[in-house]
Amino acid sequence: MNRSSPNVHELLYASHSAGVLPITSECNLGCVFCSNRFNPPGVEAVSLPARGVDELRDSLDQLAGATRIVLGESATRICEGEPLTHPAFERILCMVRDRYPDIPLRVTTNGTLLTEALARRLSSLGDIEVTVSLNSTSAAVRRALMRDDDPARVLDGIRRLHDWGVRFHGSVVVLPHGPGAEDALETVRFLGSHGARTCRLLVPGYTRCVSSPEFSVPRTAVERLARCASEWTTMPVTVEPPIPRDLSATIDGVIAGSPAQRAGLRRGDRILAVDGARPESKVHAFEAIYCGGEPVIEVERRAGGRAQRFGVKLDKRPREAPGIVMEHDVDVSRVREAVMSAARMWSAPVFISSGLGIRAVRVAMASLGGMGGEWSTSRLFQARNSFFGGNIGCAGLLTVSDVSQVLEGLKRRGIVFDAVVIPGEFLDRRGRDITGRPYTDIESSHGVSAHIA
Ligand code: SF4
Repeated sequence: MNRSSPNVHELLYASHSAGVLPITSECNLGCVFCSNRFNPPGVEAVSLPARGVDELRDSLDQLAGATRIVLGESATRICEGEPLTHPAFERILCMVRDRYPDIPLRVTTNGTLLTEALARRLSSLGDIEVTVSLNSTSAAVRRALMRDDDPARVLDGIRRLHDWGVRFHGSVVVLPHGPGAEDALETVRFLGSHGARTCRLLVPGYTRCVSSPEFSVPRTAVERLARCASEWTTMPVTVEPPIPRDLSATIDGVIAGSPAQRAGLRRGDRILAVDGARPESKVHAFEAIYCGGEPVIEVERRAGGRAQRFGVKLDKRPREAPGIVMEHDVDVSRVREAVMSAARMWSAPVFISSGLGIRAVRVAMASLGGMGGEWSTSRLFQARNSFFGGNIGCAGLLTVSDVSQVLEGLKRRGIVFDAVVIPGEFLDRRGRDITGRPYTDIESSHGVSAHIA
């Protein structure tokens, strides 16, 4: 990597502005399912060596305004690594906390380097949450699929987090190899019995660069595992990526000890109103509850074939996490704005959505009602992630060529359009996709206006 490249500085700036502080792309494991290995040729991905402490200190200004600061997650086009491999990780963490004493910190780690001293330090840093990408508790699976030559370390690390009262979550990539489902359930059980607040079961993603049968796990199998786990643990277990079927604000789980649990909310409860206002979607309901101080929630609970309605007040401060776990669906106001401005500006626009998002976007469009809802849903089309291939289906990994393929198909079918509305998730600040191609290529290739929603 050329560290003097302006492109890297731009990527770092974009990450910092989004509240993500990349510190290294290096990792001490070598998971066979690591997404860093799967990029097709042409992707503008960047790997960072451990960044210097002075450079990181100079970057801290760019985090101002973040509602939370994240270390260890993939940001923009920078490959994620294991943050705890950074020789100055603890110092960096303290530096961030000194500078931003009140902002929640989030760390994602594979958990293998969680020493007693670090767990103690984490417990002293105020509002901090750790996500451990555990994947498996089995020594054999960890050795074979994660290249972990000391599989007991991560289990000790999780016990230390628990002992020091550090809030943490777990995640498990559900793999078809070896013990498969049995191993995944055992791993969820370990997390639940060691105080994890939530567990995400991840459907493994793979691109055209991987032979698909190696990682192919039907989503329905992962959903079945989540249902099975939820029968014996109160820890919320969710499936990712989410594919919301509707916009109803139904609670998937409640975190132990949270304001939601203290108020008596449960999995399956449906939120009908927050402070008297009906939520348009799960995202809307969550935002209203998260931002509110002591929000009053009207709930519907079904039991024994009967529905019961009641109200509860959550004892929480504004911007304190309520402890409610819900799928991420769609921001209806964003969809409304996109539809209204497209209707104002063009006579025959078409709307593009990803495979994972299209169902929620269609429901959101239909909820606009009247002619607008009917008209926009009839002009909504799915773009396949053909550039990445495999089972990738998210908006963030679409490309200009994927959108162009949809438009070519519409032309062949005789569908007339004068503009295309595209999701902004796959574009950087300069309007370029992950291969560096600008979205304006859509306009020049197809002779239409392109609008970013
Ligand atoms: S721990 Fe994460 S970053 Fe490291 S190899 Fe595994 S998946 Fe990749």
